[in-house]
Amino acid sequence: MTFVSDKQQPRIAIIGGGPGGLTLALILQRHGIPSIVYEREANDTNRERGGSLDIHEDSGQIALREAGLLDPFLAVARFEGEDFRLLDKSGTLYMDERAEEDEQGSRPEIDRGELCDLLLHALDPGRIRYGCKLTDAAPLTDGRYELRFENGLTDVADLVVGADGAFSRVRPLLTEAKAEYAGISFIELNVENAAAAHPDLAALNARGKLFALSGGQAILAQLNGDGRIKVYLAFKTDRGWLDTCGIPFDRPEEAKRQLLGYFEDWDDSLKNYIRYAGSTVLPRRIYMLPVGLQWPHKPGATLIGDAAHLMSPFAGEGVNLAMLDAAELALAIVEHKDVNLATAAYEAKMFAYSSRSAKESADNLELIFADNAAQKLKELFDHYYEHTASSEDLQTGADML
Ligand SMILES: Cc1cc2nc3c(=O)[nH]c(=O)nc-3n(C[C@H](O)[C@H](O)[C@H](O)COP(=O)(O)OP(=O)(O)OC[C@H]3O[C@@H](n4cnc5c(N)ncnc54)[C@H](O)[C@@H]3O)c2cc1C
Repeated sequence: MTFVSDKQQPRIAIIGGGPGGLTLALILQRHGIPSIVYEREANDTNRERGGSLDIHEDSGQIALREAGLLDPFLAVARFEGEDFRLLDKSGTLYMDERAEEDEQGSRPEIDRGELCDLLLHALDPGRIRYGCKLTDAAPLTDGRYELRFENGLTDVADLVVGADGAFSRVRPLLTEAKAEYAGISFIELNVENAAAAHPDLAALNARGKLFALSGGQAILAQLNGDGRIKVYLAFKTDRGWLDTCGIPFDRPEEAKRQLLGYFEDWDDSLKNYIRYAGSTVLPRRIYMLPVGLQWPHKPGATLIGDAAHLMSPFAGEGVNLAMLDAAELALAIVEHKDVNLATAAYEAKMFAYSSRSAKESADNLELIFADNAAQKLKELFDHYYEHTASSEDLQTGADML
């Protein structure tokens, strides 16, 4: 089947139904501008892809306001999720930030699935097509793009927006840059129903995030809204390690036994993150695009979110930037009418703010896996708190990841 372009309105195709693509479609919809989201998965899988996210007042929340979802978001957001604890492998506590009971912080948490549900419920269901994996986008002589999907579907778009994440199929239309391995591999575990099943670990973890750092390894844990603690065991290692380490990811008990070996000299209380974990043992390599990536503007195509500026999760900005990009692009389209003027204006703005976050994320990655990382991270925050004039600009440890 081929869709025909409506001559009254530019045909906008958004590739990818993650937080970025959904936010863009929704803000356009609110302004009466049609678009269509093509998502490769057969149905919404955002719930399975990631844990708790902090949504920042100066980025993600701006986008939610434009999408008409700020109040529904604030009604379910977890302000206590801003708690942050920093330890080293001996269990020594370096930072213990606790969100104030009577104050609403500027970066509350929400689970990725819940965030995407909010967006999806507000989006006209006809605006998203599942099971449509983009395989190719070919430029036509009139400046439009022909889009081809694995299921045989084709479409012709005046503007194709790559919101298709780390390994974007749209990105090669604009730049030769590729996502490169960032030098860090994660193994994801989940401790289900932590408060009831493992009160000792729940008490150690508190209500937000806990980082335990030492010698190129880390335990990064975050309490999710559904009561589970999502745990990333992080290793500074070569790209092939997850394939060659011999850990049987499909045999959780044996995998956990071997993982405990990597944390042998860590405090017992921290090893409980591995001991208490359930049967999900997921290997994940962390990738990034070059810091400060830009491309010369080309009519008919642009990128938002990870497709544009994939960075390691250590600035906690990924989802916030994806949503801010969506808002900036949508509002530029509303303002300029001409989609190419709009994308040029959006890209200029986006390049500036995303390069700052990418640099911060790359710097934080170095720090987290350095020698004496816990001490160095504490010093960084002490310095930061001393020199940040406005409490609104104040970042907390909980913003990392
Ligand atoms: C372990 C980990 C922890 C993280 N923690 C945080 C955090 O705490 N805070 C934070 O802000 N960010 C975090 N991030 C980053 C955050 O998840 C991403 O930045 C964010 O999801 C980007 O949104 P997006 O919409 O650009 O892309 P994605 O969420 O990647 O969505 C892309 C969508 O495109 C679809 N797609 C891909 N290819 C195609 C194709 N060819 N055709 C059609 N559809 C396609 C995918 O199925 C997906 O639905 C973390 C990332 C990781 C890996």
